[in-house]
Amino acid sequence: MYTPGIWSDALKKKTHRKLLAVVQRIGALRNACSYRTVSEPAILVIAGTISIDVLAQEKKKVFLKKAEVTKTVVKAEARAATVEEWQQLLSLDHRGRWTNRLILELSNWLNRRHGETNYYLTQFLSGHGYFRDCLYKRGKVSNLKCGYCEEEEDDPKHTFFKCDRLADLKHRLESEIEEVTPDNVVGLMLLNEEWWDRVSTYVETILCKKKQEGQLSG
Ligand SMILES: [Zn+2]
Repeated sequence: MYTPGIWSDALKKKTHRKLLAVVQRIGALRNACSYRTVSEPAILVIAGTISIDVLAQEKKKVFLKKAEVTKTVVKAEARAATVEEWQQLLSLDHRGRWTNRLILELSNWLNRRHGETNYYLTQFLSGHGYFRDCLYKRGKVSNLKCGYCEEEEDDPKHTFFKCDRLADLKHRLESEIEEVTPDNVVGLMLLNEEWWDRVSTYVETILCKKKQEGQLSG
């Protein structure tokens, strides 16, 4: 990010951006312990990594303005504008829809003061992992049906919010916090560290149970 005023505009060219974005995506996948199949927009949100081209533009803005006001103020304003722009780009992107549904308010997610992601939470947030719809696309299982209820396709929404056979675990979580839906669960996690940990435990318990009980094969 040295002297972005000179080179940041070069990233507006797709081929230049792509070269750096590939490296950045690999770093974000590793940071979030993610499956490699997660799309670039989704993994950057989960890992809280600002896209390289947007970050370069932000640094350029700060560089050009820093003589006018104090650096701290300029940096904060530029970061707020970056997050707003990022949120708008996500709303237009067809990739990472599940992640966007869960993480509705990007600024709240990025500015949180507690909560680390891990192997299981990243599966939950990305929708890539111990789900038969994912495994089916990769040719690892012969069908998409949930092995517990055999009624619906096994995807993250079904696993964590809909499956009757896993409802006891969901009810236990809801007795500890409150009713959870795809639209409010991340908001509840962000309210306090205890609730973050309770959702994290719920997610890990279900995913480990699915693996141990042979739901990821056949
Ligand atoms: Zn089910």
